[in-house]
Amino acid sequence: MELLKGFYEGFADRLDKAQESMKGVETNIACDNCSAPMIIKWGKNGEFLSCSKYPECKNAKAFEYDAEGEILIVERAAPVLREDMPCDKCSAPMVIKQSRRGEFLACSRYPDCKNAKAFEYDPDGNIKVIEKEEPLIREDLKCEKCGKPMAERKGRFGKFVGCTGYPKCRNIKNIDEKGNIVESKPNGKARGGKRGGKEESEEVSDAN
Ligand SMILES: [Zn+2]
Ligand SMILES: [Zn+2]
Ligand SMILES: [Zn+2]
Repeated sequence: MELLKGFYEGFADRLDKAQESMKGVETNIACDNCSAPMIIKWGKNGEFLSCSKYPECKNAKAFEYDAEGEILIVERAAPVLREDMPCDKCSAPMVIKQSRRGEFLACSRYPDCKNAKAFEYDPDGNIKVIEKEEPLIREDLKCEKCGKPMAERKGRFGKFVGCTGYPKCRNIKNIDEKGNIVESKPNGKARGGKRGGKEESEEVSDAN
């Protein structure tokens, strides 16, 4: 009889625990989104951590137990699908992926579509795509070394045009604000280019 009572007590105890785990077991792990405590919940893939402020905060994390039975958060390696961010090449949703250099957006149709973008989070936690500035091709400026058009780029010292044949051709030229090529003037120390002397004589004839 005593044995049976013990069994029922144990059963009731387990039932309590089960009910508790339906609600979720509070942990001392703070949500990295809103700093409310995270709770352990059951999902189709087993236990996971969910923010206790759910549904206001939808932060959730996978975890595993370490050797001491402490909760160890497993940073999600699986790509996060962003249905709200269509690929601008094929309009399939983009996914957030991890690289060694951090998170980036990639097309979910990879490797069929290799569109990828860098992004950063704005203060509200929204994704802001960092548009890579496409170089402006200057069909009007042909590289005198290889005949390919030059492209405007921004460097540390301002705008310049570089040959689109880069890296085979490394021809670059400085340009002014209006995008006109600025020939480096042969002044004083600079050992003027091949055209140095010629330019000088032109200036002289202009003055006349
Ligand atoms: Zn939260
Ligand atoms: Zn795509
Ligand atoms: Zn060139």
